[in-house]
Amino acid sequence: MKSILRIIRATRELWPLYTGIVVCAVLTSVSSLLAPFIISGATDTVVNHLNGSEPTTGMAIAWFAVAYLVAQLFNVITSNIGGYIGDVMSQKMRTILSVRYFEKLLTLPLSYFDTELTGTIISRLNRSITEVTNFVKAMSNTFISLIITTVSVIVISSIYYWPLGLLLIIIFPVYLWLTSKTSAKWQVWEGKKNQNIDIASGRFNEVIGQIRVVKSFGAERRELDLFRTHFGNTVGLTREQSRFWHSMDVARLAFLSLIFFGLYLLIFLQTLAGNFSIGDMVLLIQLLAMAVAPINSLSWIVDSAQRAITGSKDYFDVMERDSDARALAITAGTDVPTRPHTIQAETGQELVRFNEVTFGYNGEEDVLHKIDLSIKRGERIAFVGESGGGKSTLMALLEGLYDARNGSITVDGMDIAGSDLETVRSLIGMVFQDASLFSGTIAENIAYANPATSREQIIAAAKKANAHEFISKFSDGYDSLIGERGLKLSGGQKQRVAVARAILKDAPILILDEATSALDIKAERAVQKGLEELMVGRTSLIIAHRLSTIATVDTIVTLKDGRIEEIGAPAELAVSGGIYAELLGLQNQGGKASKKKL
Ligand code: ADP
Repeated sequence: MKSILRIIRATRELWPLYTGIVVCAVLTSVSSLLAPFIISGATDTVVNHLNGSEPTTGMAIAWFAVAYLVAQLFNVITSNIGGYIGDVMSQKMRTILSVRYFEKLLTLPLSYFDTELTGTIISRLNRSITEVTNFVKAMSNTFISLIITTVSVIVISSIYYWPLGLLLIIIFPVYLWLTSKTSAKWQVWEGKKNQNIDIASGRFNEVIGQIRVVKSFGAERRELDLFRTHFGNTVGLTREQSRFWHSMDVARLAFLSLIFFGLYLLIFLQTLAGNFSIGDMVLLIQLLAMAVAPINSLSWIVDSAQRAITGSKDYFDVMERDSDARALAITAGTDVPTRPHTIQAETGQELVRFNEVTFGYNGEEDVLHKIDLSIKRGERIAFVGESGGGKSTLMALLEGLYDARNGSITVDGMDIAGSDLETVRSLIGMVFQDASLFSGTIAENIAYANPATSREQIIAAAKKANAHEFISKFSDGYDSLIGERGLKLSGGQKQRVAVARAILKDAPILILDEATSALDIKAERAVQKGLEELMVGRTSLIIAHRLSTIATVDTIVTLKDGRIEEIGAPAELAVSGGIYAELLGLQNQGGKASKKKL
């Protein structure tokens, strides 16, 4: 329950709506209590008229009907206003919780995303927020009416005859005891069901996202079976959960019926004994009938509360994770770094330094060992070595995506561990192997670093990236939609858009995760031309997958098992008898090394 209160506290800016709902619920419940009194008054008036003790007129009786109508209308209006406020409140709550969740995800360190599937993250978000908001909305009405109606019924019936009130009061501790016994078990089942749903949704997302791979491996049936198994598990769990829940419900309702049997019996006996008038009897019977529904809904409230508790725990599980403290600034404001940095190092002076850097992922073994490296402003440096050697990891550390375990990395003299990450990242441009564009127009993609970029600047960047020509051929030009609902760009075209995007970012340091390795010769040349333009005047770190593309760099670093094996100019390393020379030798022998993936 604490976690639900935390949700309400977390959305405390909605207090005017919460108050509105409470006021409406109070008015609705109180006005619904008026009807039994009016009917009881009318009954006594009719009975007294019939037995001749107090003659009355049709007109006097009609006033009862008018009073009943007014009370009912008031009740209907307040309950609907409450419903309206409830709708607005739950949507606002949903919005606030979703936005905060998204904001939190954006600030979590990359290591969180290494361990969680996208689909799982989305499924958890939807489920937890839906259940929490549904509960708060339903509770704000039902719970308040439960309290007002039952308390009033208990008080009124006690005034008439105290054993009635006593019997009614007994219901609550027994009822709550029975439900509390159910609750803990119920939540374990619910947690297991959610786990299965999250796994299935995570896989669903991956499979649909990589449907070509699935098809090409003929893995549809296997994936379907896996999905079916996880969802199937939820049916079994629901069976057990529901069987248990409903058998407890039978116990609860049987107990409730027994109490009501006693209550009605007492009322009839008291009426027979002449202690209650017919009108009193009618009033009490109606009041009890009114109390049955909310008391019955106790189990429903508990059910929905349990879902909401599980949901809010999942929600806070993510919300309580430690954000990458330095990432918070990213979502706080603008696209412009809070502390813009102008490079101080002159061309030829040290710009980037890796100082005895050691790193391992998420408590795993070290994958980089004491990396010492100095990169000068304007230098072009290529990283070579077999896959898994640590090239990408080294670049991720430079971007500040992970923190080094030991040692330090400085950019233009700033230790990135102590710097504002926005500032560090504003100095680094990137072109990845997989061009990762967003759905939207080509222009929007090119201007991703700064959406306010003018069309002229976008076109100029595209021209440099050797992309203008093909973009102009599309009927909508720069406004052509790409992605799922738009154009399908070829690998080389995507790369050139990505190069234009990096040109516009205009960062002094570039990381190129050898962007051309997956392309055919013609496309590779087109991209290479764009990349050459991009590299002009910048310090470039190139993760090389093919030797042919790095012949012109200043320095080559070979990495093996997380250690630097060689550093030197291509010509030096070519004759040094090391890894690079060996790879070159292979290339010269068969002409194949240039195609060999490193
Ligand atoms: P390269 O770029 O040279 O192919 P990587 O930097 O990708 O090498 O990988 C270096 C080592 O780090 C490898 O052993 C790889 O398995 C491991 N690794 C890479 N990314 C992750 C990750 N996100 N989580 C855990 N281990 C990783």
